[in-house]
Order: sequence, then structure tokens, then C-alpha cells
Amino acid sequence: MTRILIAEDDLTSRSMLSFIADHWGYQPVLAEDGQEALKIMLGDDDPPRLLLLDWEMPKIDGLTLCKRLREIESEDPPYIILLTARSNTADIVAGLDAGANDYISKPFENEELRARLQVGSRILALQQELNIAKETLTLQASYDMLTGLLNHGAIIEALDLELESATQSQAPLYLGMCDVDHFKQINDTYGHMAGDHVLQEVSERISQSIAPYDQVGRYGGEEFLILLHNPIEQAATVFEQVRKAIADTPFSIDGESLQMTMSFGVSTFHPVEDNREGKALLAAADKALFAAKANGRNCVVME
Ligand code: GH3
Ligand code: MG
Ligand code: MG
Ligand code: MG
Repeated sequence: MTRILIAEDDLTSRSMLSFIADHWGYQPVLAEDGQEALKIMLGDDDPPRLLLLDWEMPKIDGLTLCKRLREIESEDPPYIILLTARSNTADIVAGLDAGANDYISKPFENEELRARLQVGSRILALQQELNIAKETLTLQASYDMLTGLLNHGAIIEALDLELESATQSQAPLYLGMCDVDHFKQINDTYGHMAGDHVLQEVSERISQSIAPYDQVGRYGGEEFLILLHNPIEQAATVFEQVRKAIADTPFSIDGESLQMTMSFGVSTFHPVEDNREGKALLAAADKALFAAKANGRNCVVME
């Protein structure tokens, strides 16, 4: 049920408004003056989005309240209808300028109020739909469709943020560039779909082998980037765990059981003595990965 904040100092009007709002299917939240209304809007975790504010009220009037509420940054701003006995153009303009979405002149017909509340509800529903669509798009922009991991852009962004926080906390950061060995053969032998399935399984195994606060992203193709915070001995162990999670359990492809392996190149960022940026660390991890491949694959090479 949509909650509606009714701020009106006159008891009779307040009771009447509350009664009809309730009758129309809204859940009224009542305030006796502007200050009480502001308190409700600021104090509630999930304040009403539909507001009916009387203009003339003690402590804080409706116009000032409108301005105050509009100063609050929000992805989901309230829909405000001002109730006023004033009906000259200058007042109406002042009300709308203060941030009201609509106004109703007293005295008013109930039917008009009902219709205007309905317009407000529609706008609020639309606003909420837009917000959800925006959130979905933001999510889609950061995640890789195939594996559900952070995508290239997002893991690079995460790397930059982790470097900043590592510098602040003076804790080391490990950057692992991981590449599936002889992956092209999977595509060539079993087809691209089977290859996709292997990449999904690889992603799951990596995610399960690292701590929730560590990060993994799909750097591209069959390459993944892992960011670890552990001390050096532990970091080596974690990368070894990831390697074993891939190599020790065969993958099932088209009913066949197939052993897959992965190679790892790791660069280390030690704040204080290290002032390298993300790009240099990526290049170092790439170089270590090249060495791991040259070493016969299925191994971890730490820089
Ligand atoms: P190496 O051990 O040296 O890494 O050999 P490799 O075969 O894994 O490396 P290469 O770079 O030759 O091949 C990687 C292949 O990954 C080539 C490309 O077609 C495939 N690939 C990249 N992205 C995807 C994807 O999203 N799905 C599938 N199925 N294949 C992909
Ligand atoms: Mg009043
Ligand atoms: Mg590769
Ligand atoms: Mg490869």
C-alpha cells in the first residue's frame, strides 16, 4: 500500500484528508506541522514518497519544507503536492520553483485530489522502474555475460582501487594473470559451446578457491585476473589452490572427462618500496605468465 505523508496543521482538514486518502487505498502518515513532516522524512529509513503538504503551517511552512526536501540528494525523490488557499500566478510559480510537482488550491473537489494523487503515484512508479533499469544496466556494464565475473573494465577499475587502499594500509597486493592451457584445442575439438562451458566452470572453480574479499575478473578470452591481499606465503598457497582446483578434477565435456590446466603469472605490489601503477603490475604479471607457459604450463610463477 502506498504511504502518503499528509502535513496539515488544521485538525479538521488533516482528519478529512487522512480519511479520504485511506478510503482511496493509501496509507496515511500524519504530521501536524512542517517540522514534524521534515522529521518523518529524515528519520525514516524508507520515508513516504507521496507528499501532500499544506502551505501555511507553523514552524516550517510547506514552501520551505519543499525547498529543504529538494536539497536532499536522492535517486528516488518524493512527489510533492502543495495544498494552498493561494491561487494567484506568482504563488503558484513560487510553489513550483520551490520544488513542488503539483499544487491544489483550497477549497478543492475530492475527485480532483484523487486524480492528482494518481498522477503522482504513476510518476513515482515510473521513477522506480527507471531506477531499477539503471541499476540493471550498471550491473551489466560491470559483469561478464558468460561467466558472471567482473569484466575487463571492472577488474581493472578494481585493481586501481585496491592499489590505492594497499598504499594507504601499507599491505601488499598480489596480481595473478591466469590463462587456461591449450584452450584453443577445446574449441577446435569440441566446439565453441563446449569451450564456453569450460570457461564457466573455470570461473566457478576460481571463485570458490579464493576468499570473498579477494577479487577475480575475466581479463579477456580464457584469461582471468585475480587480486589477493594475503601475506606472501599465503598468496602463493592460494594461487596453488586455484591451480589445483582446475588441474585436479577433470572437466566433463560432451560426456567425456577431460583434464584441463591453467598457468599463473603473479606480480606483487609492496607499498613503500613499490610505486608501480596498475599497468606496470599487469605487464609484470604477464611476463611471469609467459615464464609459466615456457616452464611447461600448469604452474605458478611469482615475480
Ligand atoms: P596457451 O596454452 O598457450 O594459452 O594456448 P591456448 O590455446 O589456450 O591459447 P590461444 O591464445 O592460442 O587460444 C585461446 C583461445 O581462446 C582462442 C579463442 O578462440 C578462445 N576464446 C576466447 N574467448 C572465448 C570465448 O568466450 N569462448 C570460447 N569458447 N573460446 C574463446
Ligand atoms: Mg495550514
Ligand atoms: Mg590466452
Ligand atoms: Mg591459453
